Amino acid sequence: MSSLHNRVAQTLLKQRLQEETEPRTTFSFYRYFDIAEPQVFRDVLYQGLHELKVFGRIYVAREGINGQVSVPRSQFEACRAYLDATPGLEGLRLNVAVDDDGKSFWVLKIKLREKVVADGITDPDFTLNNRGKYLNAKEFNQLAAEPGTIVVDMRNHYEYEVGHFEGAIEVPSDTFRDQLPMAVDMLKDHKDSPIIMYCTGGIRCEKASAWMLHKGFTNVFHLEGGIIEYANKAKEWGIPSKFKGKNFVFDNRMGERITDDVIAHCHQCGQPCDTHVNCANDGCHLLFIQCPECAEKYKGCCSEECRDQPALLSKETGKPHVFNKSRERLRPRLKMP
Ligand SMILES: [Zn+2]
Ligand SMILES: [Zn+2]
Repeated sequence: MSSLHNRVAQTLLKQRLQEETEPRTTFSFYRYFDIAEPQVFRDVLYQGLHELKVFGRIYVAREGINGQVSVPRSQFEACRAYLDATPGLEGLRLNVAVDDDGKSFWVLKIKLREKVVADGITDPDFTLNNRGKYLNAKEFNQLAAEPGTIVVDMRNHYEYEVGHFEGAIEVPSDTFRDQLPMAVDMLKDHKDSPIIMYCTGGIRCEKASAWMLHKGFTNVFHLEGGIIEYANKAKEWGIPSKFKGKNFVFDNRMGERITDDVIAHCHQCGQPCDTHVNCANDGCHLLFIQCPECAEKYKGCCSEECRDQPALLSKETGKPHVFNKSRERLRPRLKMP
């Protein structure tokens, strides 16, 4: 009988991945649907995906599933068929990563979570069964162009800053749980206006659309598959992209360029720039926008202090102290949307 958890040492797993000769396809997916017995669902899924040599991280909750995985290229269709045959996952949309070396994961982890997207919602009457209507890229362009339509960006500030849809409003908070009540408050005088919500891959705006409906909004839409799917479809269908700039993603590129527009500015000198970096000082790691000239002048740091003062090492851990705790920074691990 195969195990439901991996028991092989991490170093050995990494080594095995490095020795693989077949390229891997990386993709992400999510779906909201009622999972009555998450533990049972998880165990069955683990066995099935383990046999297909899938690596990655999947979260399972009563409200649904969210995952980012890789699979040997020759197994991709088998993997799609397996997911498609899993009750609840029929017709699941797989977002295939374009520029990915497939080396992000070397083990399969499927974890149970309270929620697939933390929302802070405690209202027992809230249901995800009533969600906004999906819009594809073409429908989005049509509805967004109509007077009176409100387009709402449900991502974080640093994402909005380098790229967003024309005329989209920002919900200025760092966390999704704070954005939900804030969006309701910001739009309270527009209960019957068409409201289109969007995010990177669709998982946040889909939940947000259900929350808005729950709060009495009547005309709520959300962008199917998020900016990722929109950009793919706009290209495929040859329709103009209403999204300007870069789509921020948590990988080495720190963003995928959608259009040539540079809508952000260097945080140090103010010239047009949309390149995110982490402060080179190990005690800081602040995520900020820096132009090439400033990168040279500040040696990749966010400030003169960070440039001139080496990171202090903690006596207990031997690792650099992280200061500026209140400031936003990029977590080094891959982020789930
Ligand atoms: Zn600059
Ligand atoms: Zn710094």
